[in-house]
Amino acid sequence: MTNNTTSPVQQPTAPHFPEQVTGMYILARALKEMGIKNVYGLVGIPITEAGYMVQGQGIRFIGFRHEQQAGMAAATEGYLTKTPGVLMTVSSLGFMNGLTATANATVNCYPMIQISGASDPTMVDMNMGTYEQLDQFNTAKPLCKAVFRCSKAEDIPAAVARAYRAAVSGRPGGVYIDMTTPALGQIMNREDAEKLFYNPVDLYSPVAPNDEAVQRAADIIASAQRPAILLGKGAAYAQVDDKIKTLIEKYSIPYLPMSMAKGLMPDDGPLSALACRSTIMEKADVVIVIGARLNWMLSFGRGKWNPAIKFVQLDVEPQEIDVNVPIAAPVVGDMALSLDAILKALESKKMQADTSWVTELQAESKTKNVKFQERLTSAVNAQPMTHWSALSAIKPILESNPDIILINEGANTLDDTRDSVNMYLPRHRVDCATWAIMGMGMGSAIGAAVATGKSVVAIEGDSAFGFSGMDFSTACRYKLPLTVVIFNNGGIYNGVGVPMDKTSDPAPTTLDINARYDKMGDAFGAKTYYVTTPQQLTEALKEAIASKTTCLIDVQLAADSGKESGHIGYLNPAPIQDITV
Ligand code: ADP
Ligand code: MG
Repeated sequence: MTNNTTSPVQQPTAPHFPEQVTGMYILARALKEMGIKNVYGLVGIPITEAGYMVQGQGIRFIGFRHEQQAGMAAATEGYLTKTPGVLMTVSSLGFMNGLTATANATVNCYPMIQISGASDPTMVDMNMGTYEQLDQFNTAKPLCKAVFRCSKAEDIPAAVARAYRAAVSGRPGGVYIDMTTPALGQIMNREDAEKLFYNPVDLYSPVAPNDEAVQRAADIIASAQRPAILLGKGAAYAQVDDKIKTLIEKYSIPYLPMSMAKGLMPDDGPLSALACRSTIMEKADVVIVIGARLNWMLSFGRGKWNPAIKFVQLDVEPQEIDVNVPIAAPVVGDMALSLDAILKALESKKMQADTSWVTELQAESKTKNVKFQERLTSAVNAQPMTHWSALSAIKPILESNPDIILINEGANTLDDTRDSVNMYLPRHRVDCATWAIMGMGMGSAIGAAVATGKSVVAIEGDSAFGFSGMDFSTACRYKLPLTVVIFNNGGIYNGVGVPMDKTSDPAPTTLDINARYDKMGDAFGAKTYYVTTPQQLTEALKEAIASKTTCLIDVQLAADSGKESGHIGYLNPAPIQDITV
C-alpha cells in the first residue's frame, strides 16, 4: 500500500533481536560477561565476523598489522591491569604469530588469553589437508599455562570463564582457546544460548602463606645486619604498592628494583640502592626477594652474591623456590597476604640492622650518581649524537612527566635508557623483560595506551623498531597519545660492523644509518621529527608529548655509538677470528 501523505505517527522501531545466534555471537557475549573491555587482533578466515560481534558488544577491537604485536598489546594490558588481555587470531600462521606473544606472556607471568580461529579438528585429526590445517591445540600446549578447545558453541562460555581463571590465578600466564570453525558457525536459539552464561565465583582466589613460613621469614629479616629488598615485576604486577612502601620505610630496608619494578618506589629515594647493585650482591646478609626470580639477570643467585647470604623469597609459585640456590625462608602465597602477614609478624620483633649499612649505601649512591650525571652532561655536545647525548635530553623530560608510561627495547638503547631515566610511579615501565626479546615495542606501547588511557613514550633502537614498525600505523589509526623515539645508529648494536671478505653485502649487524624513519611516520599521518642535536630532541619531545597525538621522532646517532649486546657481551661466544662488530 502506498500513501502520499506521511503519517505524523512514527511506528516504534523495535530493536531487531534475531531468534537465532551463532557461536561467534556467544563468544563475544562471553567476553563481555567476563568484563573484557578490549580485544587486540587481526581478522580473516574464520574470525572476521567474530571481530564485528565483539565490537557489537561494546568491546573495543584494536586491529593490528601483525598478530605478534596484537599479542604484546594484550599481554601488556594483562600486566598493567591484573586482568587478562585478549588476543584474537586467525588459523595457522596468524595463530603461530600470536603464539609467540602468548609464550612470552607465560614466561613473564602476564595474564592473557589467545583465542584463535581453527580448522575443523575432525579434519585436522584425519590429516585431510583442510584449509590452514594445523593441530593448534597441541602446538600451543607446551607454551601456555592452560589450553582449551571449543568444538561446539555450547562450550564457549565455560571455556572463556575457565581461561580467565587460569590466566590470573596462581602464577599468571598465557592461556589458549582453540575456537574451531564448527563452534564459531554453529547456530543456536538465543533462548538456549542465554542459559549457557553464568557468573563464575572468586575468579582470583588469593592463597595465604602458612604461619610457620611467615615466622621463619620474620625472624631472619629481624636478625639481618645488612638487609636489602629485591623488587621484581611480580611485585609491581601484584599492586601491593603501599605494603611494600611500609615494609621498606618502617624498617629502613634499602631496595633494588629489577627493570620493570622501577618506580614501585622512587628510583632516587633515600633508600634506593639502584646505584649499588654490586654492593648489595656482595655485602647484604639477608635479601628479601619480592616477586622476582633468581635467574640469569641476577647471576642465578650465585657467583657475585655473598656466599653466606640468606634469601627470603615471596612468590605465588611454589616451584620457584630453590630454583638456583637454597632459599632460607620461602613465603609462598599471594603477595598481598604474604606482605600483610610479614608486616604483622615483624611488629613484635626487634630489628638488628647495622646503622651504618644505609648511610654507606647512600654515600656510594651519591658518588655514583654524580659520575653518571657527568657522563650524560659530557655527551651533550657530541656530534653526531651518541646514546648518552640523546638521553641527556630525554631524561629530564620524562622525569618531570612521571605519569607517562615508558616502553623500552633495544640493546644499548634498552640498557642506557633503563640506567638513565628514573621512574617514580609503579607499572610505568614495560620492556623486553625475562627473555630480553626484541619485537615487543609497538604492541606493548599500544596495549599500554589503550588499557590505561595514559600517554606513552616508546624508546626504541632502530633494529628493535624494525620488528614491530608497521604497527606504528595501528597507533595512528586509533589516534593514541604515543610518541615513538627511534635511536638510529644504523644497526644491531651499532652501524660499523665490517663485512667478512668475499662479500659486498652489508655486515650482519648493519642496517641503514641514513634511514629516515620519520618519513615512515608521515605515511600514516603521524606528527614527525628528524633531530640531530639534543636541543632539537628536547623541543621535539616536549611538543610531541603535549600534542597527545601519535608522533615519531627519528634521532640521528653516530654509527659507532653502541657496542655488542649492550652491557651483556659475555653471553656471546667469541669467535677465534678477528671480527669487528
Ligand atoms: P623480574 O624479571 O622483575 O625479576 P620475574 O618475572 O622474574 O620478575 O619474577 C616475577 C615473580 O613474581 C614470578 O616468580 C611470579 O611467580 C611472581 N608473581 C607474579 N604475580 C604474583 C602475585 N600476585 N603474588 C605473588 N607472586 C607473584
Ligand atoms: Mg641500532
